[in-house]
Amino acid sequence: MSSDVRKYYEARIDEDDYIRLLESKIKYLETEKEKLLMKIRYYKSEIEKLLSPPLIEAVVLSILDDGRVVVKSSTGPNLIVNVLGTVPRDKIRPGQHVALNQRGSTIVDVLPEYEDPYVKSMEVIERPNVTFDDIGGLKEQIRELIEVVELPLKNPELFEEIGIEPPKGVLLYGPPGCGKTLLAKAVARESGATFISIVGSELVQKFIGEGARIVREVFKYARKKAPAIVFIDEIDAIAARRLDIGTSGEREVQRTLMQLLAEIDGFKPLDKVKIIAATNRIDILDPAILRPGRFDRLIEVPLPDLKGRYEIFKVHTRRMKLAEDVDLYELARITEGATGAEIKAIVTEAGYNAIRNNRRKVNMNDFLEAVHKVMSKKSIREKNIDILGSKKKESLTSYMF
Ligand code: ATP
Repeated sequence: MSSDVRKYYEARIDEDDYIRLLESKIKYLETEKEKLLMKIRYYKSEIEKLLSPPLIEAVVLSILDDGRVVVKSSTGPNLIVNVLGTVPRDKIRPGQHVALNQRGSTIVDVLPEYEDPYVKSMEVIERPNVTFDDIGGLKEQIRELIEVVELPLKNPELFEEIGIEPPKGVLLYGPPGCGKTLLAKAVARESGATFISIVGSELVQKFIGEGARIVREVFKYARKKAPAIVFIDEIDAIAARRLDIGTSGEREVQRTLMQLLAEIDGFKPLDKVKIIAATNRIDILDPAILRPGRFDRLIEVPLPDLKGRYEIFKVHTRRMKLAEDVDLYELARITEGATGAEIKAIVTEAGYNAIRNNRRKVNMNDFLEAVHKVMSKKSIREKNIDILGSKKKESLTSYMF
């Protein structure tokens, strides 16, 4: 190749490189420009937010024939307002939260639905699906609940005539899983009462700062829904005896308890609201809660005995196809110490065993395997609790000395 030709090619190569370099530079600058434009848009929207006047929250009360809307504004009076064209008209319904412009003359936005914490904190069942027949054993407890809850709710005149006051509240106590919630639901059903339940530990852990208000609202709601049964599970979380009220958390728990006591004191024994509380730890309850006129009827719901376990097995196997060899009495005998919840778990597990083996009927062997599985899990759990308990004790002792 002559030297002229070589020079020509070298110059061409340099030129191509240079073009590629410029092209990549352009690409880089274009992405930089895009980034800067995005930043400008962000700051512009932030400035808009800073400059925009606050809106007024209001609740729609009714819609007039001429299209205007009556709202209750959060700042005070009821207002008759217009609706901005961009707001979807079908969403303007009584009870809907909306935003008004600053002059309060026009609905400019529909606010998202928000749930009041007290609504989230309670479970409401208009008609629980548990009857007394679904409870194994606990005959004495059922009799007592009929006397102190069902009868006064259904026939208050009986009590007026005789001149006695039924208790306002009943406290069910005993180990977990033995039927306290079941009893409360069943008595609500049999008395035709709405079942409203709250959990003590949730009031203090999940709805921090709201406990007292939730208690107030729950009772207000119960009065509206009367006849009603307010069921407070794990009442020990708000009603445990305290030595001193130091931290703000403890003060909050104390306020919740005070509100509960005020609510109980505030209604009459023959009002159509009854309170049933449940606890696994009656030993730590504040005596204030057990005073006459409050929870003055204590009903123990203990671990089921042999007969109780047999009855619970009967309840839970009612709808099951059992093989001839199934002996419920023998199952009750070998499950000493089991709770109602564990017996239910055994029955369910036995059902699974039959399904796994492609059988339509559940036989004794399915039950025996299930007993083994559930009861060995139980003993592992209990051992762990024991170990944890002694570890706690150990660390306490080492702290003390
Ligand atoms: P916790 O203190 O943990 O709230 P609890 O005493 O309220 O427990 P329940 O919720 O009533 O226990 O029982 C749990 C489940 O165990 C019930 O849904 C039911 O299936 C079964 N069970 C417990 N006791 C009985 C019983 N006596 N008869 C029939 N089923 C029972």
